Parts: sequence; structure tokens; C-alpha cells
Amino acid sequence: MLITLQNTCKAYGAQLVAVSKTKPNAQISELYDQGQRVFGENRVQELVEKHETLPKDIQWHMIGHLQKNKVKYIAPFIHLIHSVDNLSLLQSIDKEAKKNDRVISVLLQMKIATEESKYGTNREALRNLVIESFHLENIKICGLMGMATFTDDYEQVRSEFKFLKASFDEVKKQSLQDDDDFAVVSMGMSGDYKIALEEGSTMIRVGSLLFGAR
Ligand SMILES: *Cc1c(COP(=O)(O)O)cnc(C)c1O
Repeated sequence: MLITLQNTCKAYGAQLVAVSKTKPNAQISELYDQGQRVFGENRVQELVEKHETLPKDIQWHMIGHLQKNKVKYIAPFIHLIHSVDNLSLLQSIDKEAKKNDRVISVLLQMKIATEESKYGTNREALRNLVIESFHLENIKICGLMGMATFTDDYEQVRSEFKFLKASFDEVKKQSLQDDDDFAVVSMGMSGDYKIALEEGSTMIRVGSLLFGAR
């Protein structure tokens, strides 16, 4: 499955994030040995433990909801944070990045699903976050992330992905036209990655298809 997914991503010019949350190091090492270097986790403590015990050339992505007071634990090494949806979190990441003398790449998470429980900003708040980010020197905004509604209605999923891509294009055009770093649309999981790629995803986050059900 890994090779198939990697080839699909290559065909679309997208990147594959292997979502290894809840899975043991042995299973991660198997994919690592087949060449996968990008892994995603959604809990800080698990992420830190895995970073400490697995090879250092793994690029770790934080894909889950992040609390401000936990940023300091991942700031020294995190490659990309997908889940930034408010200014105070963005400011905390900037502060901790500064302490570590680095620039941390982040994605702004948009709420595209109809479900109540999903995190993320709306379009209005997104614009403000982008503008505020211009004051923060140790942050790099690399794009947007979203999770579609968990449903069998593929037209709904498709329209949610279209909305995220359109929001990305709008921000790009209005505020970040000349910023080549702003290039990531992180959307698509095990159940909907094909639709996501068709709708312009540049980064899919796949867990259960690679590692088995959780
Ligand atoms: C768990 C998770 C995924 C992967 O989900 P699968 O359905 O197992 O592929 C992707 N993105 C986020 C934010 C997740 O929490």
C-alpha cells in the first residue's frame, strides 16, 4: 500500500504524510525501511516519545489539536504544524520557535466540515490570522489544512475540498502572491484522499490505510 500511495502522490505532485498515531515504533520502522520519512501524530506526548526513539531524519508533522502550553515540547524539532486556528496559538509557536532559534512552518486549519466537533477557522478569521502573522518573525505560514465531514456523500466531501482550495487561492492572491512558501493544501485521509487529490490537495494525511484500523 505504501508504494501505491507514494506513486499516486507523485503523479499528483503531492506529499504523503503517514499518520502513525497510536501505532508502535515497530510498525513505523517498517515504513521507514521502505523509504517513508514523513510521519504525522496528533498527541504531543506520543510525538515527543517517538521523536526521541526513532531515526532523527524523520520529519514529524503535528496534525492534531495543539494546546498553547504544550508547544514548547515540540518546538525544538517539529517540521510542520497543521492545526493552527487561533492567534494566541500562533503567537506561542512564534515565541517557542524564537527560543529555539528557528522558524517553524505552520498550516492554518479551516473548518470545512459540517460536524460541530471539528476545529478550525472560518474565512474571515483566516484572513486576520494571515495578516497578524506578518508581525511574527519565527513563523512561516505554508498553507491551509482541513478535514472533510465523515460521510458517504462524496459530493459533499468534494465540495468541502473545493471550498478549502478556493480559500487557499484567495489568500494566495490577496496576501501572499509572491510568497513561494505558501504552497500547501493539506487535505485527504484514508477514506477521501482520491477526491482530495482531484480537488488540488498537495499533501494527504493517511493513517488506517497504511497501518490498519485503530
Ligand atoms: C487520524 C487523522 C488522519 C488520518 O486518518 P485515517 O482515516 O486513518 O487515514 C488524518 N488527519 C488527521 C487530522 C487525523 O487526526
